[in-house]
Amino acid sequence: MRHQKFTPRADYRLAEAQRTQASVSLAEKFQELKSLTVEFGHFSPEGVTRNSQIKYTVNPVHAKSVFRLDCPNGECIGGDFDLSEALTQTVAAREGTATGEMCCQGWLSKTTIDRIHCRNILRYKLSLEYGQPTANGANQLQAA
Ligand SMILES: [Zn+2]
Repeated sequence: MRHQKFTPRADYRLAEAQRTQASVSLAEKFQELKSLTVEFGHFSPEGVTRNSQIKYTVNPVHAKSVFRLDCPNGECIGGDFDLSEALTQTVAAREGTATGEMCCQGWLSKTTIDRIHCRNILRYKLSLEYGQPTANGANQLQAA
């Protein structure tokens, strides 16, 4: 047994966590965005359901603008789902909802790097509410 402190998977997750942490909040990036609800389900590459639908609402003041969901494959390397771009386009178009499907671009496991992709499927729905940005650009939500 080798005792490595970091694995390709841990390295990737750490880098992604840092990228997320370094990004501005959703409220800073999208000043008119008041609330965001995400509903999603994971599916195997064959389209078979892996779990029940998950739904949660994020507070744009606290949520980061790099908006990622983890891949359910515990061995997946370099994958996961980044909804930042989909979110940007939805806000730009001022749409209230957006649905889509993404395929995980990571590797199935550390023994299949450069050979077999993960290809887990995420089906999502974004529900957005908009308000008026305030004069100073800050979101009007008050800190509790
Ligand atoms: Zn994956």
